[in-house]
Amino acid sequence: MLILHDPHCAAYGSSLRPEQPARVTRSVAHLGAAHPDWNFSGPTAPVTDDTLLLAHTPTHLQRLAQPRDFDDDTPYFPAIAEHARRAVATAVAAAQHALTRRTPAFSLMRPPGHHATADTAMGFCYLNQIAIAALHAAHSGTAFRSAAPRKVAVWDFDAHHGNGTESILHAHAASGAFFFASVHQAPGYPGTGTRDLGPRTRNWPIAPHTPRGKHMAALRAALDAVVAFAPDLILVSAGFDAYAQDPITAMTLEGEDFATLGHWLAELRDTHGIPAAGILEGGYSADLPLLIDAFLSAWENPLRPA
Ligand SMILES: [Zn+2]
Repeated sequence: MLILHDPHCAAYGSSLRPEQPARVTRSVAHLGAAHPDWNFSGPTAPVTDDTLLLAHTPTHLQRLAQPRDFDDDTPYFPAIAEHARRAVATAVAAAQHALTRRTPAFSLMRPPGHHATADTAMGFCYLNQIAIAALHAAHSGTAFRSAAPRKVAVWDFDAHHGNGTESILHAHAASGAFFFASVHQAPGYPGTGTRDLGPRTRNWPIAPHTPRGKHMAALRAALDAVVAFAPDLILVSAGFDAYAQDPITAMTLEGEDFATLGHWLAELRDTHGIPAAGILEGGYSADLPLLIDAFLSAWENPLRPA
């Protein structure tokens, strides 16, 4: 298992907010102690503006440098644009690793990204690293905009709808290169994701307090839809806030359910040959390190005999 992590990502923010530095520092410390055999990779090469502009507007990139809060959840922090850019660089590197090495990679960074739209920072998110990584992966290593793009699917199991990823990738729906599948609490933040926007832009809204078996069935249906798309690469918006003990949601998943999600990715790798990379989104309980461990450990392991 390759863990991509840049310690700079803990150098902003506050322990008074749910999205806080300890989410990643505690997770990295736990995984390092529990898995000395895993490969932990440090800072990756910076991303260019051209890469960010695959998903975002020039106006948005300028706005990130202006010291005004974006909304109540999404404050301005000094150098937040650089922090967000590091999370993008790491996500792009994780996707490239999965494409070229065909083994799992996980970007363990903050801020998260899946709520950021082309022109708006919101919901703790400033730049949408998974959408950028998807758009980049579709064309990397090909003659840009001339060769047929790779097919890239996003499977988003964060408890919140990946509205930013949805809107950015849906704008490219005509290319046929992208599939978006999100399973999330509804009603819930940000209020979108109550219906499909098209055959390749799919949503599975889940009512608060839905029994975990029913939630897992929706996650499996979403992943089956991803597989039916026959992607060359799956990018996973891995949020761990559908956990029963998460302080900001009302879902019911347990640690073993996140292990099952990892096992499903191992199954796709070993039986369908589809590579995948994961990107940390939400997850605000004190158990976050254990949930990430359960997911990644199951994903790394070769398929268990039935
Ligand atoms: Zn979330």
